[in-house]
Amino acid sequence: MDIKKVHIVIPIVMAGIIGYFGTEIMDIKKVHILIPIVMAGIIGYLGTKIMDIKEVHILIPIVMAGIIGYLGQVDLDETSLVISRIPHISRPSSQPVRQVDLDETSLVISRQTDLNEAFSVLPRMSYPQPFVDKPQRTDVLLMSPWLAPIMWEGTFNRDILNAQYRQKKFVVGVATFAVKKYVRFIEGFLGSANKFFLSGHRVNFYLFTDHPEKVPSMKLAPEKSLFIIPVQNYSRWQDISMNRMDIISNRIRTHWHYEVDYLYSMDIDVQMFEHIGVEIIDTLVGTISSWQYTKPRDSNSYERRPESRAAIPSGEGDFYYAASFYGGSVSEVYKLTTACFKGVTEDRANGIEAKWHEESHLNKYLLYHKPTRLLSPEYYWDEELPRPQIIRVKRLSSVRKDLEEVRS
Ligand code: UDP
Ligand code: MN
Repeated sequence: MDIKKVHIVIPIVMAGIIGYFGTEIMDIKKVHILIPIVMAGIIGYLGTKIMDIKEVHILIPIVMAGIIGYLGQVDLDETSLVISRIPHISRPSSQPVRQVDLDETSLVISRQTDLNEAFSVLPRMSYPQPFVDKPQRTDVLLMSPWLAPIMWEGTFNRDILNAQYRQKKFVVGVATFAVKKYVRFIEGFLGSANKFFLSGHRVNFYLFTDHPEKVPSMKLAPEKSLFIIPVQNYSRWQDISMNRMDIISNRIRTHWHYEVDYLYSMDIDVQMFEHIGVEIIDTLVGTISSWQYTKPRDSNSYERRPESRAAIPSGEGDFYYAASFYGGSVSEVYKLTTACFKGVTEDRANGIEAKWHEESHLNKYLLYHKPTRLLSPEYYWDEELPRPQIIRVKRLSSVRKDLEEVRS
């Protein structure tokens, strides 16, 4: 053929070769960047030999625009965006009691396999059709004014939630503390959580204790793991409780950031009686206290003294949240615990302690960083309270305890 055709064919063939073989040695994004650059180079170099420089300068941008337009589109589809958003997960904890399969390769591969399956059809499910004019419940608030859903029995279908959640292969961490006499609650907590907490899904329980030798040996479900982490104790129970924020924040930075997707902090002096499932999973999650869920904001237990960092001005406040159960994505829980402990530390320096300790700081934080999902008082129902009609199930309850005795 004539030289002109050769000069047109060369860049096209080269682009084909790079496009075809390139993906074997580099990722698709680099291939798509390389092709237009190489083609522009070849046209620029060869083009001047068969046409005048002006034509070359017109041709290069046109060809490059075509290539970028075509390949760029491929590169920005949903799959590649999701891949680039796959979070963290890079190394396992250095001190687990029982090593779980958390290494980088296996998690990333299992997630990418999921993406390939993204469009495969889920098993068929039959369930009642939802209708916009038939609310699931009319006796309780289902949505906060900032559109965070509130979890109530009778408002969601657990099978649908489970099927959706299973596609994601998330790992959830639970941080709980059993210091001093609170080791007596470990068995009841773990035994019931093993059965009712995210049943059938992967959960790592992280138990902080000053008495690792007193942790009863318990057989957990295969998808559940227990990690025992030694901590020091403090003489005041308030300090044990408040310092949880600091310990959680530090542990996220050094370990959990790499190990789990979502993290929940729970009191140990509780037991679960009904399923607490994937309906609790969201970016920032608070539980509405069973003691104060109907109280006007100015008569509930917020810290109101302006000297405390936990102070909420009167006339403000949404719900009263329980520090016994909160959570969310690892990064949101990191921000929350870090901020709350900063408040605790500043209060200590100023010789003040908030009315309900870290719970006061948590309430302040959640007032200005609205939770994306709320758990109704079903999720922390105080055993001492009579149960009103709107509480159809008691999923989790505090264990009755002799406060003086157990905290001494
Ligand atoms: N805690 C502990 N040892 C103590 C006091 C508290 O391990 O001596 C931990 C434990 O996890 C407990 C949590 O801190 O569940 C909060 O304290 P507590 O349950 O006594 O507070 P309450 O629920 O009564 O407000
Ligand atoms: Mn408690």
